Amino acid sequence: MGAKRLKAVVLDGKKRIGVHNRAEIKRLSQLCNKWVQFQPLFLPGSMAAYVGTLMRVLPTQMAMDGLLYKILLKKWGTGSMNQMSVEMGDSPIKNWKGSSEDWGITHSRSVNPDAIRKHEKVKYHCYACPLGCGGICAMQGKYGETHKPEYESVLALGGLLMNTDLESIFHLCEVLNRAGMDTISAGATVAFAIECYEAGILTKEDTDGLELTWGNSNAIIALIEKMVRREGIGDLLADGSKAAARKIGKNAGNYAMHAGGQELPMHDGRNDPGYGVHYAVEPAPGRHNVGAQMYYEMFQLWKVMKSLPRVKPLYFKGRKYVADEEKAAMAAACSKFMNVVNCAGLCMFGVFLGAKRIPAFDWLNAATGWHRPPEHYMEIGERIQTLKQAFNIRQGVDPRTFWPAGRVIGRPPQTKGANRGRSINMEKMISDYYTQFGWDPETGRPTEKTMARLGLGAGEDVV
Ligand code: SF4
Repeated sequence: MGAKRLKAVVLDGKKRIGVHNRAEIKRLSQLCNKWVQFQPLFLPGSMAAYVGTLMRVLPTQMAMDGLLYKILLKKWGTGSMNQMSVEMGDSPIKNWKGSSEDWGITHSRSVNPDAIRKHEKVKYHCYACPLGCGGICAMQGKYGETHKPEYESVLALGGLLMNTDLESIFHLCEVLNRAGMDTISAGATVAFAIECYEAGILTKEDTDGLELTWGNSNAIIALIEKMVRREGIGDLLADGSKAAARKIGKNAGNYAMHAGGQELPMHDGRNDPGYGVHYAVEPAPGRHNVGAQMYYEMFQLWKVMKSLPRVKPLYFKGRKYVADEEKAAMAAACSKFMNVVNCAGLCMFGVFLGAKRIPAFDWLNAATGWHRPPEHYMEIGERIQTLKQAFNIRQGVDPRTFWPAGRVIGRPPQTKGANRGRSINMEKMISDYYTQFGWDPETGRPTEKTMARLGLGAGEDVV
């Protein structure tokens, strides 16, 4: 593509897109639907926080299974994890410097899954999806209703800012959706601004008179509305925390929690180092929708590809922090698999249910008429990943600049909370990941040999 200066391929036409074996796709879908439809009784949402507390205090970790996630997603949507995540140390608090000790159960109760579900007027789902994680919620104020806020939005506008005012979160989700702005980046940029204000780097004069303090929901609303209109301090912050830090100077960059300029989502690398690694190694940095150790557990790819590492149902938490070849193979498998999933137009939440329950590879074979093993599709995923990496490098983007902010990977480690004392051996985990793809372990550049192996040409014009 590079040599031909091709920017995009457009397919157009009026014919219905067909599949090779419609009956087989139907049969596979009915099998998986049957499993998804089964919904056992589960704890009330008010108990979710205590499940998180238990997960925090136990020295062992139970491998996450899609069965649990299915129950949660069907009942509450992604917000099912809100309080549980805060308690177990997955969700960052107070711009990544706090913990559930600062924003405990009494605070996070405001975003409990049942507290949100109480507002739900109607559930909705993508075409033919039996999970149906979406919903419309009633709210006060000028908009009257909004889409049920996702986990990421609630925590980015909640715990990250120490904000317990659920109405303000509903309102801001609607404001940001209407403006086409990302709730994660907006919340993270406000957290950055509050910490700058706390450190005296920004003053009331700079903030147009706003008292930017933790949990001040009125000020948070006013600030985000200013960002949407690019007005005053809002103009300074509208391009995100990295750009704002550069303009502000005075070491403001210390409070900007991003990877390669992308504000980070609500999953803490100190709790699951897989997140930290994927934030840094993905060609689009700071992504939470590609891989993590927990994602690998849920994908259960080893059940259909014997060469991949198996995960024990119960293991000591210390295992998560050991940088070894197994972790690198797990991380690489997540990246390859999610490339296949995204290209096939499948939903990540669906494949969380496990490779034996959601027959992604069998669906693809039925659609294409191929009889290829899962390994073949994983190689397609590998090729896509390498192509994306090579594209970045050709454009002069250095993958080593994608390191997430120090707090995210435990540098320095926290002294309290669920992630106390934890830090990640990022150097080794990143270079092991690059090695898995046949990229240079130091620079992350795909080697000529790898480019040739994947049929991406000798690569002279890229590498
Ligand atoms: S396809 Fe995915 S996003 Fe859409 S309703 Fe189903 S689970 Fe939710």
